[in-house]
Amino acid sequence: MSSSALSYVHPTTDSPWGTYLAQVDRVVPYLGKLDRWVETLKRPKRSLIVDVPIEMDDGSIAHFEGYRVQHNLSRGPGKGGVRFHPDVTLEEVMALSAWMTVKCAAVNLPYGGAKGGIRVDPKKLSRTELEKVTRRYTSEIGLIIGPHSDIPAPDVNTNGQIMAWMMDTYSMNVGATATGVVTGKPIHLGGSLGRVKATGRGVFVTGREAARRLGLKLEGARVAVQGFGNVGSVAAELFAQAGAKVVAVQDHTGTLVNDKGFDVAALISHSQSQGGIAGFHSGEQVGNDEFWNVHCDVLIPAALEGQLTAERARKLSARLVLEGANGPTVPEADDILAERGVLVVPDVICNAGGVTVSYFEWVQDFSSFFWSEEEIYQRLDRIMVGALDNIWEKSTQHGITLRTATFAVACERILIAREERGLYP
Ligand code: GLU
Repeated sequence: MSSSALSYVHPTTDSPWGTYLAQVDRVVPYLGKLDRWVETLKRPKRSLIVDVPIEMDDGSIAHFEGYRVQHNLSRGPGKGGVRFHPDVTLEEVMALSAWMTVKCAAVNLPYGGAKGGIRVDPKKLSRTELEKVTRRYTSEIGLIIGPHSDIPAPDVNTNGQIMAWMMDTYSMNVGATATGVVTGKPIHLGGSLGRVKATGRGVFVTGREAARRLGLKLEGARVAVQGFGNVGSVAAELFAQAGAKVVAVQDHTGTLVNDKGFDVAALISHSQSQGGIAGFHSGEQVGNDEFWNVHCDVLIPAALEGQLTAERARKLSARLVLEGANGPTVPEADDILAERGVLVVPDVICNAGGVTVSYFEWVQDFSSFFWSEEEIYQRLDRIMVGALDNIWEKSTQHGITLRTATFAVACERILIAREERGLYP
């Protein structure tokens, strides 16, 4: 006998792990006989907590807490990003790793799910300190990562340079250059064309498909974007190119609204040079809560978890929510949006473009043969559109939300693999 409560975490109804558990509970009625394996999904396979000590530039010694969680490896090696953020916790990384398991299965990549993180504010570190933190962390989790066992990638506050240091550290430790150990690397180190923009592009592709089904024209559609990093800014750019008006943008430096629609390319270059959107010459700066009141057709939460609360869901004007972030909507808000007829394209399909091109990168590294950008975008489109079609059909067939339908498609794949492999010993 077992109970699904793990002794080492204390999730609440809207914490990331609590949100994930509620999402799993909702899919159980659609799993048929596979439901006997469902407990598998509620327990990460392996969680590693590491101490990351470094010598700071001023000579002091600082310690940071690092994690790597392999949620499920039934379908293949672990896959998932590494996040550097002062609020990262084990429980959050567990949820993020579980969403990776579901996401990889939803787009049918031969991967399990994993995630990592360091509890650190990288904005407060010098470049030397950042490199030391990255290298020591990589060395510590070197026990469980590898090109055939668990492949990290960028996530919040990590990028190609950090992946290059991770690849180098791992390679130094094993005595051979192992490009396949991480994805999201710079192009000349085995990175893939299109990887940097892949997540935002996937958000746009799934958004375009969902809008078409809703009869919502992109031309003139009002779009609000929360988070203007690698995901939000690229999605905003692609929506603007398709004729939509980006009327509200929020990031860690503030909230800007512009009824006529922003010049997104100019906003991106401002944000890149200034470290945020604050101070941009056009639009009006408003209070952060105002963001949720802005009249819009499409909302793209592309920041952190738990942003779309019940209260915000009640007043939202959007017809379509595209989850660029992982876990942005709490379960109660999900129900409110469903009741109100707001269509939510869930994270586990909406932002799967990043890991899909990560998979392309990993395949290219192993074959040492690199594809053109055009080829990558074509394959990405095909995978995202095909996966969404399949999920849409499941959702219509059972009258369930796209989130539960995505979980149904993905969990079936994961649990069939679980059953076919059998329990060891
Ligand atoms: N961090 C991204 C995500 O949440 C990408 C992970 C990857 O490419 O492995 O999906």
